[in-house]
Amino acid sequence: MTRRRGAAPAAWLAAITAASALVSADAFATSFRLPSTCADGCMTVTAYYDYGGSQDWACGSNTYPGHRGTDFAPFGSWSAMDEGRSVVAAADGEVIATNDGEFDRCNTGDCAGGGGFGNYVALRHDDGKVTYYAHLRMGTVRVGMGARVACGQELGLVGSSGYSTGPHVHFEVRPDGGSADDPFGGGDCSGPLSYWVAQGAYRALPGTECESTAPAPTDAAAVQSVVPAAGTVVTAGARFEVRVTMRNTGNTTWTDGESYLLTHDGDARFEAPEQIRLDGATVGPDATHEFRFEAIAPSTAGEHVGYWRMDRFGTARFGDRSEVRIVVEEAPVPPEDAGAPADAGQSQPTRDGGGTGRDAAATVDAASRTDASAGARPLGDDALSGGCGCDLTPSPSEPSGSNGERSAAPGLGRAGAALGLLVIALRAVRTWSTRRRRRPGG
Ligand SMILES: [Zn+2]
Repeated sequence: MTRRRGAAPAAWLAAITAASALVSADAFATSFRLPSTCADGCMTVTAYYDYGGSQDWACGSNTYPGHRGTDFAPFGSWSAMDEGRSVVAAADGEVIATNDGEFDRCNTGDCAGGGGFGNYVALRHDDGKVTYYAHLRMGTVRVGMGARVACGQELGLVGSSGYSTGPHVHFEVRPDGGSADDPFGGGDCSGPLSYWVAQGAYRALPGTECESTAPAPTDAAAVQSVVPAAGTVVTAGARFEVRVTMRNTGNTTWTDGESYLLTHDGDARFEAPEQIRLDGATVGPDATHEFRFEAIAPSTAGEHVGYWRMDRFGTARFGDRSEVRIVVEEAPVPPEDAGAPADAGQSQPTRDGGGTGRDAAATVDAASRTDASAGARPLGDDALSGGCGCDLTPSPSEPSGSNGERSAAPGLGRAGAALGLLVIALRAVRTWSTRRRRRPGG
């Protein structure tokens, strides 16, 4: 964990190569703010960590032999100290050591007390790093052992206690609580990493902003409801509407711009789109959104299930799976030998059973029917049914042409000349289809 200059270049190269791995690990590491409210124009760095030979992180000489921390000194020296210059926690942490009551106007660098730190506070941060704030003014230590302190909270005032020659705060970082490390990084004579939230330029002060304690963005979703309910019976080939309501249980906001969508996540898709968009909706944390889409029941009877899930960028699925589980039953077998007109009349309400309306059914049926087009069928069916009441079971041997002609007659009578032409055309088609249907059954 050391960043000393003495480390082999190969080791640093390996560290840099592993930077991507370190970034994720570092996401949980504590970063520091300037340990004082006395910032730009009020304070300056007087000594950095010594990498050996009195060389600092940027290969400068702003350090002295064996210095294990960073010294920040207020402009104005003793008068500034007397006015009071705050020393604050560089990050959230717990007080693990304090010392107070030591002489604080030391100018010889060898005053006793606190093991050389004089009056000081030590904090342990959430990632285990320990920071020391040393040489504080006597009687100003504000926090007690075991106290939980927040980033930026005042710990005491700048002084000159212990091994000190003038008012300053000695800020020292011990990554594992043991040996010290330089919080500055990225210089020609240092390691690559910095412990500062905003390190700033060489000889300038680190930033006073605390590290963000906001939780990392998290995508999460829970299934609120699914329509149709599990086990709903749907006729083979029928259209049905699916309504999946998802609750945003994460801390991100779902928007189209971020490409949040509902995506098919396995098994039956019921001919629905692979992805269902938010269509302009914005779904914040704890809000719900109903995704609607049309689906078509499979042609095979039995239970069918498909899954849908939230997805970000079309690649990162998250949250709970919603399940669409239906039971498909075969379309009713038409009454034996009922003939084409009766067949057409009975199948239609059954297929409308899903509640999607006559138009939808007509659309579905259009592809599978061999008789008239959807638009013309109502007239044709009515006309044919009305005419067929007296003769539902024409002899198979009877010429099919006569069946069609009798059936269609009443409708033709009500229709105008133009409709008459249409019915004639329909009749031709139906005659052809009737003939085809009857042939196998005899
Ligand atoms: Zn120092």
